[in-house]
Amino acid sequence: MIQPDFSKGLVPAIIQDYFTNNVLMLGYMNEEALSKTADEKKVTFFSRSKNRLWTKGETSGNYLLVKSIEVDCDKDTLLIKAAPQGPTCHKGNDTCFGEQKNESNDLSFLQNTISNRKENPKEGSYTNELLNNLNKAAQKVGEEAVELVIEAKDNNEELFLNEAADLMYHYLVLLTAKDYKLDDVIQVLKKRHS
Ligand code: AMP
Ligand code: ZN
Ligand code: ZN
Ligand code: ZN
Repeated sequence: MIQPDFSKGLVPAIIQDYFTNNVLMLGYMNEEALSKTADEKKVTFFSRSKNRLWTKGETSGNYLLVKSIEVDCDKDTLLIKAAPQGPTCHKGNDTCFGEQKNESNDLSFLQNTISNRKENPKEGSYTNELLNNLNKAAQKVGEEAVELVIEAKDNNEELFLNEAADLMYHYLVLLTAKDYKLDDVIQVLKKRHS
């Protein structure tokens, strides 16, 4: 990993949600905090108020599990992508900055997981069960579509969104079982559009 320049003191670290791309929080690191973060794969800051190393989640359990560490162009800022184990803000919110909508609607986090399962099957994985049984995967898409249709007639927002998510997941699994990816569908849609 390229090291930031610690010669002027603490270096700010932007923590970004690996799954949603939301900015979760900002903290400061010294060399020790960064090497602990890189070694233990849990974000650890140097807390200016506590005046010691602070592993985020050390009392709440809401750790930030490190996925990647990047240094900016002039090596004075860190960008860390992490999987949050719970709300990052001590006020109970997911992020310290309020909700941020991801308008790019990037599903790659889910597509990547499904593709990984296909390449490295995991014992007891429901995704693998579907990937190995095309009929079942296709049938589940039909079932989830019907469930979504039923919820569309109701006014329970949570149930509707959950069925929409179920359909999206099974749809991606079916595409992957057929050796396609969401990108292939997007190409078709873009061609139609132009
Ligand atoms: P935690 O690291 O989540 O176990 O929280 C321990 C303590 O760190 C909390 O009681 C707060 O004082 C502080 N803290 C936790 N999360 C944040 C945050 N996102 N921003 C600032 N302070 C925090
Ligand atoms: Zn910079
Ligand atoms: Zn906060
Ligand atoms: Zn469902």
